[in-house]
Amino acid sequence: MDWRSLDEQYIVSTYKRLPIAIAKGEGNYLYDTNGKSYLDLFTGLAVNVLGHSHPRILKALHEQGEQFLHISNVFLNQPAIRLAQRLVEQTITGKVFFTNSGAEATEAAIKLIHKWTKAEGAGREGIVVLRNSFHGRTLGAVRLTRQAHVYQDFPQPAFPVYELDAEDSEGLRAICQSAKPAAVLMEPVLGSGGVVPLTEAFLREVEAVCQEEGMLFAMDEIQTGMGRTGKLFAYQHAGVSPDLILFAKGVGGGLPLGGVIAGTKLMNQFKPGDHGTTFAPSPLSAALGNAVLDELLEPGFAAGVNEVIEYLWAGLEALRARMPEQLQALRGKGMMVGIPLSVTPDETSRLQSELLAEGILVDVTQKTIVRLLPPLTLTKGDVDRFLEVFTRQLTAAISAKEAL
Ligand SMILES: *Cc1c(COP(=O)(O)O)cnc(C)c1O
Repeated sequence: MDWRSLDEQYIVSTYKRLPIAIAKGEGNYLYDTNGKSYLDLFTGLAVNVLGHSHPRILKALHEQGEQFLHISNVFLNQPAIRLAQRLVEQTITGKVFFTNSGAEATEAAIKLIHKWTKAEGAGREGIVVLRNSFHGRTLGAVRLTRQAHVYQDFPQPAFPVYELDAEDSEGLRAICQSAKPAAVLMEPVLGSGGVVPLTEAFLREVEAVCQEEGMLFAMDEIQTGMGRTGKLFAYQHAGVSPDLILFAKGVGGGLPLGGVIAGTKLMNQFKPGDHGTTFAPSPLSAALGNAVLDELLEPGFAAGVNEVIEYLWAGLEALRARMPEQLQALRGKGMMVGIPLSVTPDETSRLQSELLAEGILVDVTQKTIVRLLPPLTLTKGDVDRFLEVFTRQLTAAISAKEAL
């Protein structure tokens, strides 16, 4: 069967695909239909935080699958209630609204912020976001996504949006002098915007301005959450306390699930009928979410992850010290790594193909940044394997270029 041409014939081509078909995933590895294995440093774009076929996830899948898959929001949903309680207990006092995806979490956030604006926003309206932000692909989320290639061909909902540079807290004060935004929304580490972590000092400054001005402080933790940066949510490194937290990607253990944790100012803004969705929270996704949390909150798990994070970054920094002309300053936090290369986009994509041929799966963002989103179950052996192949392929790419 020629799956590639059938794919081209029948599926709208919104993604550039890699030339392999996956047959199976196990632990930190994927296996293609020819049996070749790949170290998965992509994890379905930060979704499979525990790698593939994790025993705890498979157990939850079977147990919940045998009970029921869908019941709708007119019934109590025990796996979802338990998950919401645990997410709140690990973050801020509040309540959870569940969605099926990250973009829907952003939509819920926009609606919640507007309900707050109407009820008690005292003339405040609109949202401050960062340049190069990414908050999703639905129209409201695209309005907040400040990357031209994402929004330029589509209609823009009319609410005000203010664009701020990362680290520019003076810029935020300036916006607040000429306008009255209702909220600030930012990713603690800009993901598709180039794997740019915000400093803890900047996050604390933004929180302070929000408090002074009476604005809501919202964090998009869709990619950074569920342990990816070494804490359950990335904002927790800075010791700040947001009013609203968006989550998705890893939370459903591989199944679609997202949502917002709405703090005390927002948790009672939605009344029955104000917002809703047929599917979310899927009891099955929620059961898997609980299995993910069981593992992440296991004593010693976070310490183990942080040990491998340190090992990974030390290895990458050593490589960068050896090849300062080919590698620019590393970016990211924890298991979210950007390796900016001083080569062309074509050379970067060739390097990605060479790595794939050697059984290593990495992502590329912003054309020349190799992006790693490894599972939290990454081992030091996996790190060694990646660094060995990456160093060799990078060196080969350079000597090929010099031979020209
Ligand atoms: C992936 C992502 C989204 C969108 O999530 P979807 O599930 O793809 O709709 C929003 N914000 C951030 C930071 C993301 O990484």
